[in-house]
Amino acid sequence: MLGSLLEHMGAALRPTGLCELCALPSRQTLCEPCTGQYLSGAEPRCSHCGLALPAGNFICGACLRSPPPYIQTLTLGDYGVPIDRLIQRLKFGDEPAIGRWLGQRLAARWQAAGHPRPGLVLPIPLSSVRLQQRGYNQAWEMARSFARELRVTARSDVLVRVREMPPQSSLPLALRTKNVRGVFAAPGPCKAQDVVLIDDVMTTGSTLGEAASVLLRAGAAAVRVAVALRTPPSG
Ligand SMILES: [Zn+2]
Ligand SMILES: [Zn+2]
Repeated sequence: MLGSLLEHMGAALRPTGLCELCALPSRQTLCEPCTGQYLSGAEPRCSHCGLALPAGNFICGACLRSPPPYIQTLTLGDYGVPIDRLIQRLKFGDEPAIGRWLGQRLAARWQAAGHPRPGLVLPIPLSSVRLQQRGYNQAWEMARSFARELRVTARSDVLVRVREMPPQSSLPLALRTKNVRGVFAAPGPCKAQDVVLIDDVMTTGSTLGEAASVLLRAGAAAVRVAVALRTPPSG
């Protein structure tokens, strides 16, 4: 109990810390100005896939033509320079606390947007090789912190990887949908649940789309997505 409380506080407060982006003193992972500039998610965005849109638009052309299996995407902002550094630190810098902080930010945004309280929060599972190298799944760090803030359940055993694949980032965008086919299974209970899927970055949405399809086939009532950052189309 005390351990989890301290861990929780550690994710939120960095008493002697510096902002991960601008290196000014900050009690949070990012200082307020950097958070406002890079993680405000303020642009109008496609409600389905989180893509930034010109003012007055609510859904992007791609989602109009072919709606993804998830019904909603919440994001904190666009993936790009310099905020990509934060994700690099989260994934390759042995800093799982960044994930817990991002989970808290996502939960705050989720509540502020008035989104429904989910029944189940699930991370995109990491490949076993990368889990072994990294020592933690950054999406799980985000998911359990997100769920704790909303006082709902997070589980890492409901959606699992059943096949290894080349990293999505190593492939051209056009090949990514095919690459993730058959990668996931949903052996855990998700029937009739409103699920939120958590990941650090959404690029094409192929991975999240495949995971959502698997969960829906397993009986989930609906799947929503919460990602720290969304890659703009040109990126
Ligand atoms: Zn800063
Ligand atoms: Zn869209």
